[in-house]
Amino acid sequence: MERTSHRIDTKLIHSGEPSPLIEGAVSMPIFQSATFESRGEHDYHALRYIRLNNTPNHDALHKKLAAVENAEAALVTASGMAAIATTLLTLLGTGDHLLAQNCLYGGTHDLLLNEFPRLGIEVGFIDGNAPQSWTAKVKPRTKAMYVETITNPLMGVADLPRVVEFAHAHDLIAVIDNTFASPVNFRPPDWGFDLSLHSGTKYLNGHSDIVAGAIIGRAALIEQINRKLGHFGGSLDPHACFLLHRGMKTLAVRVRHQNDSALKVARFLEAHPAVESINYPGLESHPNHDRARELFSGFGGVVSFELRGGVDSAEKFISRVTLPISAPSLGGVESLITRPATTSHSGMTAEERLRAGITDHLIRLSVGLESPHDLISDFEQALEG
Ligand code: PLP
Repeated sequence: MERTSHRIDTKLIHSGEPSPLIEGAVSMPIFQSATFESRGEHDYHALRYIRLNNTPNHDALHKKLAAVENAEAALVTASGMAAIATTLLTLLGTGDHLLAQNCLYGGTHDLLLNEFPRLGIEVGFIDGNAPQSWTAKVKPRTKAMYVETITNPLMGVADLPRVVEFAHAHDLIAVIDNTFASPVNFRPPDWGFDLSLHSGTKYLNGHSDIVAGAIIGRAALIEQINRKLGHFGGSLDPHACFLLHRGMKTLAVRVRHQNDSALKVARFLEAHPAVESINYPGLESHPNHDRARELFSGFGGVVSFELRGGVDSAEKFISRVTLPISAPSLGGVESLITRPATTSHSGMTAEERLRAGITDHLIRLSVGLESPHDLISDFEQALEG
C-alpha cells in the first residue's frame, strides 16, 4: 500500500510509476508481450502472463489505483462488468445471499436477476434510504452488501456510512460501485468499504476509447478476486492498460470541471419551464443533497431529467441538441445524452424500470468538457418551441 500524504492530484500523476523510470521513459511504456521469460516461479499465479494481470503495465496501474483511493490493493479488469461479476462470484457461491440496492446500473441488475438464480445465488433488494428496513432482509447466508455511490440513472445517494456500519455489524463484505463519483469525489476505503468497483470505461479513463474496470480495496480480498480473475479470464490488455493509465493522469482536472459544469447545467434545467423533474445531488432540491454534501467533494458530471410531454419531447430534445452525442456511456470528455430505457436500462422489463422509478422519458446527460456556456445555449435552443 502506498500511503503518502500527497493529494489525489499528485498521486494520479506520480503514484505507481516505475522507479527508476524504464529507460528514462517519462510515460509508462507498453509491454505488449503475452508471456514473460520464467524467473524460476513455481506457483501458477506467479507466472507472468497477460491473463494473470501481472505485466509491468498492470502492476503500475494497480499501485496507482490503490494509492488514489487510499486502499491496500487494486486490480484492473477487462470491463466494469468483469470487475462486478468477478468480485461477486468470488464472494458468493451456491446457497449464498446478497443484499443489493434496489436501483442499480442496468447491467448489474441484469446480472443479479438473470444470471445469479441459475447459479443458486439469491439476491434481496434494499432501499438505500431506509436502514430500518435492512435487518429484516438479512438471511443466514447473506455474505455481502452491494450499493452504488450515486445510482445510475436516478442519482440517488444511499446512507453510505450506515451501509458500512450495518454490513460490518452483520459480518458482510461492503461493496460499492464508485463509478459515478470517481475517486476524486469519493474514496470508499476512507469510509470503511471493503471493496470499491469502477467501470474504468467512464471517468477513470475519460476519453470514451476503451472498456476497462477496476477493483480496489482490502489486500486479502483483492488476492482472492485476482485468483478468480485468472480463471474467468477478464484481465485487461496492456494497450488498454496504457490508455487507462494515461487517462487517469488528468482525472482530477477533468472531474472538477465536470462537477462545476454539471451543476451549472442542472441549475439551468431546474429553472426551465419545459423541465418536469431533475435529479442531481448538487441541487438543494435533491432529497439526498445534505448527505451528498457531507460525503462528496463534488457531485459528479451526470444529470438526469424528464421533460414535460413524455417520450416525444425527450426524443425531440435529443435530436435537437447539437453538442451532446446521442450515445450510451458517460464520463468522457464529450457530453453524451441517452434515454436509459432504450440503452443502459433496456435489459430491465418496463415494469422493473417503473418500480425503480425510471420512466421511458427520463433523459441521462453526461456532461463533458465543453464550455458550460455553450452547452446551456445549446439546451436553450433545443428546448425552444
Ligand atoms: N457500473 C456503472 C455505474 C455503469 O454505469 C456501468 C456502465 O455503464 C458499468 C458499471 C459497467 O461498465 P462497463 O461498461 O465498463 O462494463
